[in-house]
Amino acid sequence: MSRVTSDCVFDRVLEGDLSAHLVLEEDEFVAFLDIRPVFDGHTLVVPRAHYGTLAEMPEALLGPLLGAGRRVATAQRAVLGAEGTFFALNEVVSQSVPHVHLHVVPRSHGDGLRGFLWPRHRYPSEEFASDLAGRLRAALPVQP
Ligand SMILES: [Zn+2]
Repeated sequence: MSRVTSDCVFDRVLEGDLSAHLVLEEDEFVAFLDIRPVFDGHTLVVPRAHYGTLAEMPEALLGPLLGAGRRVATAQRAVLGAEGTFFALNEVVSQSVPHVHLHVVPRSHGDGLRGFLWPRHRYPSEEFASDLAGRLRAALPVQP
């Protein structure tokens, strides 16, 4: 039996060529433990179909991706006693595997995860921020 070999690590997991600790298996999505977790239970939710980025994913799958992530988070709270969740999705930069994956990281108060989105800064002026917001609004893609 010939088997398609892919350069994509997640496709190889989905094809069974690489083992993973599966957390969720559904028609459109699979979730498995990240091999280098921020905290135990840190899970990646991955569409079965290969999409490199969100831009390549059908709009109709975006909501279900978050839905699957929410189910994983619910399980993390039940199993790990997690109080909350950090949902994250790196696109291109810091995206170690070029196959869309939603990080679902269990959080608890005092878990020490900080500095991730810091240090923060302030805009130099209200005018600067207003101008920037206006340029972002003007550049929004048309809502489908
Ligand atoms: Zn892939």
